[in-house]
Amino acid sequence: MSYVVRIRYFYAGGLCSLCMTVIGCGALDDQPQQESHASNSSEAQSAEVDARPVNPAHFIESALAAPIVQEERALSDGTVALCYVISTYSEPQEHAMGPWAPTTIDDGADKGGIWLDKGEVYDVDGPFVRDIAEFYGDPEWKLYREDGSVIMTDTKEAFEAAARPDVDPKYYNHVVEGRPEWIDRQVSVFVIPVQPIYQNQPTSIGGGAGGPDRGTHNDAPPPRGQGGPPPLRPNMDGGRPPRPDGGAADGDQRGGPGFAALGVAFNGVEFAPPAPLQAILAAHTIAPFDDAGGHLNPHEGYHYHAVTGHTKEIAQSDGHAPMIGYMLDGYALFALESEDGSVPVGLDECGGHWDATRGYHYHAGAAGENQIIKAFRGIPGTMATVD
Ligand SMILES: [Zn+2]
Ligand SMILES: [Zn+2]
Repeated sequence: MSYVVRIRYFYAGGLCSLCMTVIGCGALDDQPQQESHASNSSEAQSAEVDARPVNPAHFIESALAAPIVQEERALSDGTVALCYVISTYSEPQEHAMGPWAPTTIDDGADKGGIWLDKGEVYDVDGPFVRDIAEFYGDPEWKLYREDGSVIMTDTKEAFEAAARPDVDPKYYNHVVEGRPEWIDRQVSVFVIPVQPIYQNQPTSIGGGAGGPDRGTHNDAPPPRGQGGPPPLRPNMDGGRPPRPDGGAADGDQRGGPGFAALGVAFNGVEFAPPAPLQAILAAHTIAPFDDAGGHLNPHEGYHYHAVTGHTKEIAQSDGHAPMIGYMLDGYALFALESEDGSVPVGLDECGGHWDATRGYHYHAGAAGENQIIKAFRGIPGTMATVD
């Protein structure tokens, strides 16, 4: 679909919202401050009533494929709410994409990206590729040739055949790397409620009931909340139209249960659900992320599986971790670490908490966890890719 047609699509949605309310940059500061409460239960109550509105002015303008508009839209559970419709190119504005795979086993870390395993972040440099059989304790791995060159998907066709759940056996033992020039420019349309709607029962990000990322969820660390989390609300059937592509081994199972995206950075790039590392590794492939935590998928373009501090940040005057984006439920996402390097304690089963300055908000999981948030505290909106 051409650029022109895409634009027509957005405008067909209703241009009435040219009169959208743009909340100024000082919106957070202008919010009435809630009193700080001593007990957890009154904190939870505060979180419920204390919904800070999304501020569309935080998005980088050049990331937008169309002006952000306000429209009444159905959220993923069918609830109709006033939403921001945010159409982005899902291309980073502040950093380059890649590199992902080194070319030879002698290459340094500057020639490759990162890999995530059991909470740790590893540089995908030449030696990492060379030693991967040892790393995983499995002699079937061999990602390089005798001349030291790395075996990778070096054509668009190879990439497409390797980046799917049923990896073409020809591409077993390959580093799977997509290149920007192989991907058609697409527009991602994020529909996010203007005012987050707090739920006592979180909405699961899904993917655990089937599909290639099942193993990832089984390996996920236990929730950090105290006393065990309440049962997660399953995704409702039909809440999100099935994706046409049927998923990709890089993780992006779109046809099954689960959300296509978790949220969006201020540069318009999607924060994605966990990459299905077990499925990827089962084919003796790795699909490295660049240093910004992103990689490409044939159907979806560039997206992040980890937060590593490469995108636009909005500093907080009290030393709290900077704000880096919004999740689909309208709650803001903040980096993990405060200015002094400390990390928040006592986050709930979604990966969020409440404070008097910011209301309820999330903190991104540590990059190695392959899990940006754990569940949605609010009713999530939707994301669709238009191409
Ligand atoms: Zn991915
Ligand atoms: Zn916080």
